[in-house]
Amino acid sequence: MASLKTFARTAFLRKAASSLRGCSGAAREQSAVRGISSLASLPDTHEMLRKTCRDFADNELVPIAAQLDKECRFPKEQVKKLGELGLLCMDVGEEDGGTGLDYLAYAIAMEEISRGCASTGCIMSVNNSLYLGPIKTYATEAQKEQFLKPFLNGDRVGCFALSEPGNGSDAGAASCTAKLDGDSWVLNGTKAWITNGYEAEATVVFATTDRQKKHKGISAFLVPIPSEGLSRGKKEDKLGIKATSTCYLIFEDCRVPKENLLGETGFGFKIAMQTLDAGRIGIAGQALGIAQASLECAIDYAFKRQSFGMPIVKMQTIQSKLADMEMRLQSARLLTWQAALLKDAGKPYTKEAAMAKLAASETATFNAHQAIQILGGMGFVTDMPAERHYRDARITEIYEGTSEIQRLVIAGNLIKEYS
Ligand SMILES: Cc1cc2nc3c(=O)[nH]c(=O)nc-3n(C[C@H](O)[C@H](O)[C@H](O)COP(=O)(O)OP(=O)(O)OC[C@H]3O[C@@H](n4cnc5c(N)ncnc54)[C@H](O)[C@@H]3O)c2cc1C
Repeated sequence: MASLKTFARTAFLRKAASSLRGCSGAAREQSAVRGISSLASLPDTHEMLRKTCRDFADNELVPIAAQLDKECRFPKEQVKKLGELGLLCMDVGEEDGGTGLDYLAYAIAMEEISRGCASTGCIMSVNNSLYLGPIKTYATEAQKEQFLKPFLNGDRVGCFALSEPGNGSDAGAASCTAKLDGDSWVLNGTKAWITNGYEAEATVVFATTDRQKKHKGISAFLVPIPSEGLSRGKKEDKLGIKATSTCYLIFEDCRVPKENLLGETGFGFKIAMQTLDAGRIGIAGQALGIAQASLECAIDYAFKRQSFGMPIVKMQTIQSKLADMEMRLQSARLLTWQAALLKDAGKPYTKEAAMAKLAASETATFNAHQAIQILGGMGFVTDMPAERHYRDARITEIYEGTSEIQRLVIAGNLIKEYS
């Protein structure tokens, strides 16, 4: 039965993808632009995708999310199913074996999957946008054979190694080095906070090939895991998204073939920034999922809980909280879809992606906080999901650029527009 369901869903995704692919580039661009003026309703294809992902989340993720969180257990089986559904390579083109959907579809799927389990959403986002994203764009055909095609269906996941112990927000200050020695690049240094670090079978890693040139001296490399000279640090014990692994990747004279350079030398910082621009739309989706789950948990409880002889949902203070949660959620969702549509239309979207991530992540934190308040004592214990949402929400304000960095990006673009 489960495999029949999987088949049906996979068939659906293929159909959805081919209907989107059916549009010519210009038609697709037009439809994306049209979408911006009519965000109130989704195209049928995306609505169907949303339902498929929602059903998957309700059946496969909601029932086990608390247990995964408690045991800090990577959801291997569910990741495999996501792969079979085509949700781990959503915007990789069909010619490369991917699902071939657009970024609006990705944002929607990220929201629905994260509504079921934020850790699973995180794993999905790393494989889709941080790992496959730069490879899809910059890899040679030979690199795609080794580093893209085996990472599409959930058998293997990848990771993205940019941050270092000494620099996170200031990614241009990379101290990890790569030196050409004969036919090999030799990598040295430590990368910090690497999501999927314990399960990943390859990484996109950033290292400086010319320190004098600062961020213009950074290059990107593809490294298989395991590799000689590459080891992992301990698994971090985290506040939230506890079913994901996060660890150091330590490079000590780690040799990779010369051909494992991704793009050109000195192009790494640009690749990293482009990857994060797109990735932020996925994290906005993840945050929306947490915000939506918090709202649903709060409403459900408010209908059932009686106080002073009536359900608390009838109380003005509770309604006011619910109203704020819904208003922020819808606003952040519109910003997220706008950023995705701009990307799909090939238009600049850096500022919009930063606004989407900022709004969605602050909404996730806000909604989870309000949900705990509405649940009272029950919000504070692990019997209910509100406390997990509260813990999971926090990371969306930190990774792929903190909220402070998003504000810098928004302000920087705004000032340029007005100069
Ligand atoms: C669970 C988890 C998973 C992660 N996954 C990955 C991953 O897969 N790959 C990867 O490469 N990285 C990953 N990261 C790293 C993450 O992207 C960084 O933690 C983040 O970018 C912040 O960097 P930092 O921790 O060094 O903080 P810092 O950069 O040291 O910032 C500390 C504080 O100073 C503020 N600040 C810094 N610079 C400025 C400025 N110019 N203006 C205003 N305020 C500023 C920050 O906003 C923050 O409040 C992950 C982190 C976590 C916690």
